[in-house]
Amino acid sequence: MRPQMMKIFENMRSDNALSIQNAKDTGLKVVGIFCAYSPMELVLAAGAIPVGLCGTKHEPIAAAEKILPRNLCPLIKSSFGFAVTDTCPYFRASDFIIAETTCDGKKKMFELLGQIKPVHVMHLPQGTGRPGALRWWLEELHLLKERLEEHLGVTISREDLRAAIRLCNRERTALKNLHELNRLDPAPMTGLDMLTTIFVKGFNVDKEEGTGLINQLAEEVRNIAAQGISPFVKGTPRILLTGCPVGIGSEKVVRLLEECGGSVVCFESCSGIKTLEYLVDEDEQRDPLEAIAERYLQIPCSCMSPNPGRLELLGRLIGDYKVDGVVDLSWQACHTYIVEGELVRRHVKDNFGLPYIQLETDYSTSDIEQLKTRISAFIEMLSGS
Ligand code: SF4
Ligand code: SF4
Repeated sequence: MRPQMMKIFENMRSDNALSIQNAKDTGLKVVGIFCAYSPMELVLAAGAIPVGLCGTKHEPIAAAEKILPRNLCPLIKSSFGFAVTDTCPYFRASDFIIAETTCDGKKKMFELLGQIKPVHVMHLPQGTGRPGALRWWLEELHLLKERLEEHLGVTISREDLRAAIRLCNRERTALKNLHELNRLDPAPMTGLDMLTTIFVKGFNVDKEEGTGLINQLAEEVRNIAAQGISPFVKGTPRILLTGCPVGIGSEKVVRLLEECGGSVVCFESCSGIKTLEYLVDEDEQRDPLEAIAERYLQIPCSCMSPNPGRLELLGRLIGDYKVDGVVDLSWQACHTYIVEGELVRRHVKDNFGLPYIQLETDYSTSDIEQLKTRISAFIEMLSGS
């Protein structure tokens, strides 16, 4: 039995495109973001609506390749393609864009994007271990606050920031609670439904309302699970998907993993639990910007060097979700995730004795058969182990 609430989540991206336009007509501003390091709290505290702009579809890539090199990750090309073809309502609605210096391809693409829309690029430290990293990042947050205030014509108060911190923490907690329902065996939700739910949160006009819907869905899933109903039979191999972010439109690997007999129970990526694990400290005695800076620097992305937090998180998730195998998805030409894959492979195999596979692909359907063969063999091995 599929949760009835999923119908609402499935249509949310298109429904919210309309709501965004309506909100703009009433004078609200929209701020586009591309990465989990974008501090949403500042956008909300500025009274604006944050929307995710990461491209997850293959269609605009051909237009992007007229300008960008072809051997670039599909996420960058798709995002840029939507911008140059003006085919994404969320990009069109954005009054201002927050970007970060994460991977090389993305940060250079942002310079081109800056010729289409106002873009502010935050400079991330390259790692979190150096004593000055947090100080540097906090400076960047102060600079972003100034830019937002200037550009949107607002003043962001400490109280605005504190209210936004509480709101974002509530949303993260709701999504984390939902994601954690898949610790049950068999999992009560398919990976595809889980991905859909987490993905569409990036298009919510009203975060309070969106959080309420996530809680309602979790309640429905809990009830379904309590009746012993699951889309999977007991013994279905439980997969943890790690690596590059996935979205609706670029979900082919998730789909194939489940079509070939697996159950994707956990997403250790920016499409899943990676961004939900860390909350901003709500202590009223603290400088809210410092608390925000601290939280965002904990995100264990491969653009950080070194990135021990990802291995630590993976270890924890493997145990919590009773994982049978790890699938590491890398978009083609995503050097940081592809190279880090070797450390992930060693960690998964040597410390947990689990099967691991790295899949490198793009957004096209040209390699579906090849992927299917590799995935089927992997799932078969898990079923027999
Ligand atoms: S994987 Fe890294 S660069 Fe990509 S969205 Fe997540 S934090 Fe940002
Ligand atoms: S998937 Fe990799 S190459 Fe692509 S934008 Fe993210 S970090 Fe950069």
